[in-house]
Amino acid sequence: MTTIKPSANQPSSRWARIRSQLRAEFGEAAYRSWLKPASFEQADAQTVRILAPTRFMRDWIEAQYGERLLKLCAAENSKIQQLEIVHAGAEPENIAAGLGHAPAVARAQSKDDDIGAPLDPRFRFDNFVVGKPNELAFAAARRVAEAQAVPFNPLFLYGGVGLGKTHLMHAIAWHIRETTPERRVIYLSAEKFMYQFIRAMRFKDTMAFKEQFRSVDVLMIDDVQFFSGKDNTQEEFFHTFNALVDHNRQVIISADKSPNDLEGMEERMKSRLGWGLVADIHPTIYELRLGILQSKAERLDLDIPQKVLEFLAHKITSNVRELEGALNRLVAYATLVGRPVTLDNTQEVLRDILRANDRKVTIEEIQKRVAAHYNIRLGEMHSARRARAIARPRQVAMYLSKQLTTRSLPEIGRKFGGRDHTTVMYAVRKINELCALDSAFSEDVELLRRMLES
Ligand code: ADP
Ligand code: MG
Repeated sequence: MTTIKPSANQPSSRWARIRSQLRAEFGEAAYRSWLKPASFEQADAQTVRILAPTRFMRDWIEAQYGERLLKLCAAENSKIQQLEIVHAGAEPENIAAGLGHAPAVARAQSKDDDIGAPLDPRFRFDNFVVGKPNELAFAAARRVAEAQAVPFNPLFLYGGVGLGKTHLMHAIAWHIRETTPERRVIYLSAEKFMYQFIRAMRFKDTMAFKEQFRSVDVLMIDDVQFFSGKDNTQEEFFHTFNALVDHNRQVIISADKSPNDLEGMEERMKSRLGWGLVADIHPTIYELRLGILQSKAERLDLDIPQKVLEFLAHKITSNVRELEGALNRLVAYATLVGRPVTLDNTQEVLRDILRANDRKVTIEEIQKRVAAHYNIRLGEMHSARRARAIARPRQVAMYLSKQLTTRSLPEIGRKFGGRDHTTVMYAVRKINELCALDSAFSEDVELLRRMLES
């Protein structure tokens, strides 16, 4: 054995060397799951005591790493002849026994951050704006966060992108962590779940993986549509899910579709996901969008005219994330250029966002608008009458349909009483000609176009 300098012979540096040796030999994943949470101490001259957080982990360390651990300890200190591996206090016998008093190490924050994902500090209940489209999801989330006993399991939140699913999940996690810090809450994306599962399989460490997830009080998995078609991960998730629900631990799931509509998911999975409360978040409506903009502008202490907020709420209809993006860009502009935000510069600065959000006009709307404008009956759009007072407005409507929708010429023809695509082509050419010749007519068409686009 090499001689070790006194300072390097301190127990703490000995353990550090043993730890780094273990990490190198067994790999990062196994080390983190099993060995890192354990602590080492010298029990007596011949004995090293290893303290594992749970009984299960103690057994596992003993079976998998015991022999090697003893060798390493003996190499550091030749007097060492035996290991004593103990678990740190009263682990609940059965996870169904309730929250119990699991040892401090097992509940350490770092371990949760390892398997979970960090929470966004902005995603709180108090800055979630509630309106008709999200009131059920919000109420359900609050209920789960505040409940002493599991109110429904799982809570399944679904809705389109950027509508607040992740925000609500983080808000639940924050609330529980703050009010009942002894409960373990894990939030992670379905993607991260899969990544960890695959890593565990690669390192032949699936036991640790299972143990980690099955010992939490609240498990949240975001965007489970990601599991679609990934059969092994889905299977593992299904078992984890069942184990937790069976032991009355809260599970919260989000997806972009309802359980039934999730494609590439096993039937039993879909049906199980729908057992608790399924709450959908509908697309935003004007009032909610305006409320969100007002709340954000207020929090950021921004001086944005009400007219501009109304304009944005009216124009940006896709989702809340885009709405925030628009607001942020306005703020950046105002601070950089040092000019107050007005309706004019808003339109200029956000031109691309506004264009992308332009309302999709339908042929039916165009027909209705044009008929009303020229004071003819809507039915004339489909009729065979060729009198100019009727045929001209019909041509204008065809022209605008071509300009404002993505419909093909044959599709447009069909919507105008089953006309041929060449008729539509002719109408487009005719209106172009007339616009070039007659400025009053051109203005008329332009006006109609603007009305339809707004
Ligand atoms: P999802 O997970 O459904 O795709 P997110 O939760 O990531 O959507 O929300 C996108 C952004 O919009 C986030 O910044 C979030 O804070 C914000 N947001 C969504 N809904 C609301 C709401 N009702 N009130 C305030 N902010 C919201
Ligand atoms: Mg999300």
